[in-house]
Amino acid sequence: MARKIGSRYTANQILGRGSAGTVWLGEGPEGPVAVKLLREDLAADQELVGRFVQERTALLGLDHPNVVAVRDLVVDGDDLALVMDLVRGTDLRTRLDRERRLAPEAAVAIVADVADGLAAAHKAGVVHRDVKPENVLLDMQGPLGPGGSHRALLTDFGVAKLIDSPRRTRTTKIIGTPDYLAPEIVEGLPPRAAVDIYALATVLYELLAGFTPFGGGHPGAVLRRHVTETVVPLPGIPEELWQLIVQCLAKAPASRLRASELGGRLREQLPVLAGMPPLDVDEPEAVRTESVDEPGAEAGADGSTAEAGPPVRRGAVPLVPGHAPDSNRDTHTSMRVPGPDELDGGAHGTARAPRAAGAPRPGSARNRGAVRRRRITLATAAAVLAAAAGVATWATTEDPPQPPSTSTTP
Ligand code: ADP
Ligand code: MG
Repeated sequence: MARKIGSRYTANQILGRGSAGTVWLGEGPEGPVAVKLLREDLAADQELVGRFVQERTALLGLDHPNVVAVRDLVVDGDDLALVMDLVRGTDLRTRLDRERRLAPEAAVAIVADVADGLAAAHKAGVVHRDVKPENVLLDMQGPLGPGGSHRALLTDFGVAKLIDSPRRTRTTKIIGTPDYLAPEIVEGLPPRAAVDIYALATVLYELLAGFTPFGGGHPGAVLRRHVTETVVPLPGIPEELWQLIVQCLAKAPASRLRASELGGRLREQLPVLAGMPPLDVDEPEAVRTESVDEPGAEAGADGSTAEAGPPVRRGAVPLVPGHAPDSNRDTHTSMRVPGPDELDGGAHGTARAPRAAGAPRPGSARNRGAVRRRRITLATAAAVLAAAAGVATWATTEDPPQPPSTSTTP
């Protein structure tokens, strides 16, 4: 089932399917390559193709041992393809699914690699915007690093940005994967380098714990937690490592470490972590259902809040309106950022307008009653659900319909 891609490449065999297209094992003039053939509807979008060509230089310029290099961009008839270095191995999600959680040394070595890759990208002015285990590839043919870990390479640079074209998403939708989205994105600020650090710290937490700090349940609830919740400590984690995670999960982007610093600080931890077994953390039966928001539930990383509702996995909504996800993995979310009036919660004030990053929240959610807390969660989730459902219409109409009200009657 080989097919030609442009004049120089042949795609021979499907390596995997993702949300943006299909990745093929291909052959080029310089040997084997991986070819990501973008989905037909993306390739048919003239504006996206234009941006694709525009981004060419930035994408092709990234050359680093921890970045999957993009070697060529092919625009040929109906085909739109990224030609990448072939990584022989697996992605980090597959490894995590298999092992459930990684030994701290291996986890830290992998994340330090990714931080180094990010440092190079950020230096070149490129923000990744979709750091998650699916986009970390492990090179299983190269030499093993600390803790028996394979070299990690970050892939899919620029893809989130390409898809996030002004017309495709207007300026009011969120592109990213809910579990890894930095709070400032939820609040509608433009994504800068610090969003990658937040996502990477989330990945580190996930590798150690087996679940993400704010994931679980409806995407709207996940987004809200990024803005309002603090991260639950992991039992048995060395204090210095924990502090790094906390710092990089800071709500205020400026408080997070830079990628180069994070890479270095993580590597400093490696000797202490050598030989340490995976942390003994019980994945909560119901990974953060709505009722995890009840008072006192913050201590629930050990599963003690398992009386929460039925088990819920991370939610996924299609990357592009009108298309079911073509992957069995959770992929992107593409939803509208609530307008200031919605954040205000209308007359009833169920939620607030974005505050300055890092500023204390007046009347912290933790101090409010459980009933009110639940109501806010439901209101936010309902608003986002309605927004997500409305996306298809929004994409085809010039004037967005009136946003759903987030207000609730006390
Ligand atoms: P998407 O980001 O569109 O969801 P992915 O980039 O995750 O798609 O690609 C889908 C699959 O293809 C992944 O499971 C990954 O293992 C494989 N793959 C992606 N890029 C490469 C590469 N450069 N070399 C080898 N395999 C790759
Ligand atoms: Mg990907």
